[in-house]
Amino acid sequence: MPHELPKAYEPGAIETRWAEYWVQEKLFHVETPAPGDSRPVFTLLLPPPNVTGRLHMGHMLNQTQMDIIVRWHRMCGHVALWLPGTDHAGIATQMMVERQLAKEGKKRREMGREKFIERVWEWKREYGGAILDQMKRLGASVDWGRQYFTMDDNLSYAVKEAFVRLYEDGLIYRGKYIVNWCPDCGTAISDLEVKHEDVAGKLYEIRYPVVGGVPGKNEFITVATTRPETMLGDTAVAVNPTDERYTHLHGKHVMLPLMNREIPIIADELAQPEFGTGAVKVTPAHEPNDFEAGLRHNLPQIEVIDERAKMNANAGRYAGLDRFAARARVVEDLAAQGFLVGTKDYTIALGKCDRSGTIVEPRLSTQWFIKIAPLAKRAIEVVEKGYIRFTPENYGQIYLNWMHNIHDWCISRQLWWGHRIPAWYCTNNDCKEVVVAREAPSACKCGSTILEQDTDVLDTWFSSGLLPFTTLGWPEATRDEEVFYPNSLMITGFDILFFWVARMIMLGCWFMMPPHRPGHGPKTSLTVGDASHEEALRESVPFREVYIHALVRDADRQKMSKTKGNVLDPIEVIGQYGTDATRFTLAAMAAPGTDIAFSESRTAGYRNFANKIWNAARFMFMNVDRIDPGLRPADTGVGAGPRHHTGVAGFQTTTLEDRWILSRFNRAAKDVNESLATYRFDEAANRIYDFFWGEFCDWYIELIKPRLNFEEGADTGPPRIACANLVNLFEVSLRLLHPVMPFITEEIWHAIYDGRPPLKSIALASYPAAKEDQIDLGAETEMAILQDLIVSVRNLRAELKVEPKVKVPIEVFAHELGIRKMLEKNLGAVLRDRPANVEKITFVESSLANLPGARSTSRFDVHAIYEKKIDVAAERERLNKELEKMEKQLVTAQARLGDEHFLRKAPAHVVEGLRKQVEEATILRDKNLAKLKELG
Ligand SMILES: [Zn+2]
Ligand SMILES: [Zn+2]
Repeated sequence: MPHELPKAYEPGAIETRWAEYWVQEKLFHVETPAPGDSRPVFTLLLPPPNVTGRLHMGHMLNQTQMDIIVRWHRMCGHVALWLPGTDHAGIATQMMVERQLAKEGKKRREMGREKFIERVWEWKREYGGAILDQMKRLGASVDWGRQYFTMDDNLSYAVKEAFVRLYEDGLIYRGKYIVNWCPDCGTAISDLEVKHEDVAGKLYEIRYPVVGGVPGKNEFITVATTRPETMLGDTAVAVNPTDERYTHLHGKHVMLPLMNREIPIIADELAQPEFGTGAVKVTPAHEPNDFEAGLRHNLPQIEVIDERAKMNANAGRYAGLDRFAARARVVEDLAAQGFLVGTKDYTIALGKCDRSGTIVEPRLSTQWFIKIAPLAKRAIEVVEKGYIRFTPENYGQIYLNWMHNIHDWCISRQLWWGHRIPAWYCTNNDCKEVVVAREAPSACKCGSTILEQDTDVLDTWFSSGLLPFTTLGWPEATRDEEVFYPNSLMITGFDILFFWVARMIMLGCWFMMPPHRPGHGPKTSLTVGDASHEEALRESVPFREVYIHALVRDADRQKMSKTKGNVLDPIEVIGQYGTDATRFTLAAMAAPGTDIAFSESRTAGYRNFANKIWNAARFMFMNVDRIDPGLRPADTGVGAGPRHHTGVAGFQTTTLEDRWILSRFNRAAKDVNESLATYRFDEAANRIYDFFWGEFCDWYIELIKPRLNFEEGADTGPPRIACANLVNLFEVSLRLLHPVMPFITEEIWHAIYDGRPPLKSIALASYPAAKEDQIDLGAETEMAILQDLIVSVRNLRAELKVEPKVKVPIEVFAHELGIRKMLEKNLGAVLRDRPANVEKITFVESSLANLPGARSTSRFDVHAIYEKKIDVAAERERLNKELEKMEKQLVTAQARLGDEHFLRKAPAHVVEGLRKQVEEATILRDKNLAKLKELG
């Protein structure tokens, strides 16, 4: 049966079909390996997209890189598990459903908690899978059978267990502290969710009269603030204990203007003598540092701003005003009463809610916190000891810096959607016991049976920080956990390094160490410092490697943003160019340390690349069908297992181009494997591109065309060998390309087998690896000379402006007999090259270098016999340019060869290469000089 491949490459149709097939066939489902199974394991967790999410370019990059790595490992014989899921995304989801309700004229609070949550689940069932469907269309090779949602019963159970255990470990506490409060979202948010922005503001200087000062002399203390409305809640003024200007006021009081409240002057480090007047106002309920000072001095905490950022009853006659309206009134009144000393322009680092953009209000609030130091200590240790490695490396240091300066983590959120905190409060006023438990307690120790559960839920990052082990069955001891933990790798963006990566490390190293690690009894503990402790610590990490990828920007390197209107929708790009081309763009542009300036022209170029491969496949099938439609690859890629160095099987080298392409393939395979092992997606993609298009399609297929010039039905001899070589090489090249372009490779691979392949998918075939004895340096050198000659002739024609149809005879002078023999043997290749369009080749016995319009390399001179007069001026210019280049090369190379330090350090082959370069450049320079002289 002849091979079938449609004439035109249409990615849309192919991709949809294979994407569905992969899901239906459960191709990427991973059965947990049984004990005794010695296959290597590779595990990767998908950073769970928000259940409300839609795929954006960041996801597309992230998932492309993960899919490449996972497909590569799978083809190398690993048990490759890529675990997908979605995050319940507390605030985002709750806000989305609230907006939906608003359209129906309903409100969350009127509805009540239970009904509201039921409504969110409804929404989730209906729309929550959208982003996963998009991933399916992208062909992400995740195990759909293991898909999770962070609010699933088993995961919620584990979250509760983790909270209770941290509480029992003494690492969770509840208390009134200053938190970042978003008045718009109505909840506490973490430091990481606050974005700081420098804005022009004002610094107000206010004087507070000293009570009982020197009689007859009005004494004041002047303080400065950017938020004058908070003065209504001041409970002290602080001066530095060492500041002699104020020593006489220690222990005295000031009268708080507008409120007529006497407040103490305290001596505290909070005040820095060199800053402003050296005295500062203290507002414990609305400023984190003041809060700490307040604790040191037992100051009252007077809240004056409420949860909606309005002034409350404590603000006296300002009550009910919005915080900014209150600011204006306070300043006005201070001025009127003579307390305002002055106003200065001042740059303020304003904290805004990352989600709503609202200015964050530091606010006193009762929250749950994790005492982070013990967790951070381990999380630092495992990175410092190299148990977790970062790529690019500098992120390791960024991580450590952050971890060394970490604050306790506020984990409660004033939301309804999420994991509710497992704490109950006794309603008996004489008791007020707090019970943290796995199950709702039936009675308090005081006997009361009325206990109310905390209304807050946990920060979403608390649950997602547990995922590397809760998705594998923690707190139970499971085979999954034994096999797949630690995960091998985490691929993610810098934006969630602290939010998520850092927290997974802290929580992983806590809960996957004894006594919390399943399989170790609760009483088991290890002595710090002994070998088994070290081993346990090494194995407690959530993943062994972290790869941090860049951002995708627009073609002008601008950050994509809705306001700028430059957001590229990956689904649209895919619709236009195909997933394969889009993936290839992202991979090829992912150079380390730089963001990706996504340009659709590049994607169009990679679509052309796919098209080139498509046409080459059609050319192959046409020939195969003429000689033997039953011709199949010698190596089916089945069962080769991990990294068998197979090279290209069944490939017979009868000609120079055969030896050359076989060698080039093996080199490409070697380089691509090395690049993928170091996350150099750009190198891997570009290497495959250069090989497949530049060497395989452009040179090899052109060179073997005469061998395919056979009678229909010929089944032996050179044509058959040529066809078999083509099939063998093509098939293995598809496998090399597969991780980057999974769809087109799947399509052509099935076509090679006439729809009856040895495996369900090319994704299950083995990945090519270089076979050293198929690398042939001699063939590569010879082929390079031949290519050089052909390209020289093409260039000569262009310079002489020869019409493409006109054939031109050439003369060649080979510098060595060996080169001449090689060229003579492969004359056909030169004669057949269409752009060179050579009529006849004559070998001459002496140098042609001095002839005008001749081309010289260190191996040969070539001259085209064409009567058109040479443009002497242009030729001189060309030679001068060439000469300049040579001189530069010579100077650089000689400088390096003169560098003792370099010579000591450089590998021998590098030094040898440089010497050769000097030799060749010298020959060329002398030739050019002679030519210039000839031109006069
Ligand atoms: Zn907010
Ligand atoms: Zn009680």
